[in-house]
Amino acid sequence: MLQIGKDETLVSLDFIERFFCCDLEKCLGQCCIEGDAGAPLSEAEDAILHEILPEIWSDLLPAAQRRIEEEGVSYRDIEHDLVTQILPDTGNCVFSTYAEGGLCICAIEKAFREGRISFRKPISCYLYPARIKQFDNGTTAVNYDRWKICKCAEVLGRAKGIRAYEFLREPLIARFGQEWYDELAFTAEEYIRQFCQND
Ligand code: SF4
Repeated sequence: MLQIGKDETLVSLDFIERFFCCDLEKCLGQCCIEGDAGAPLSEAEDAILHEILPEIWSDLLPAAQRRIEEEGVSYRDIEHDLVTQILPDTGNCVFSTYAEGGLCICAIEKAFREGRISFRKPISCYLYPARIKQFDNGTTAVNYDRWKICKCAEVLGRAKGIRAYEFLREPLIARFGQEWYDELAFTAEEYIRQFCQND
């Protein structure tokens, strides 16, 4: 792990050593479907989801609309973390929808890109494959979540020469700030120069 910034943030070396670039043509947005639970949410994000619901309602799947009416937009998973609601049969996040070619996309981000709302999506989704863990002693860990459905992103990232920390530039800046990211990028370039010359 690398320590970045003044606030004890530990970043996994995987973000520097591994290549990553989402390949939606290959994965078809499986991360909105696969998995045992919904996407992690903060309390503030949960409140925002309630606010924006009318704006995105017509984009949601009929089964997702029914699920939200019955169970709400979120729930507590087995670790008691707040996560987005999912469909019990398919596993879809209730905020997922489909675009041309069977591509599963986020209805929240769709509305954001169309300028209908100012909230992009939960930061846990924006940051994926980074997973943030907050410890009681004030330390924040930025862990790399390796998932077989994202194998194609590692292949495309390598082909394009895009490392995971570079792919996540915008969400990392959104979460930790420009100064923090600049320090990470500087440290990463130095690390690559010393240890990853043959990649
Ligand atoms: S995170 Fe993985 S599953 Fe989701 S869009 Fe990227 S490559 Fe596809």
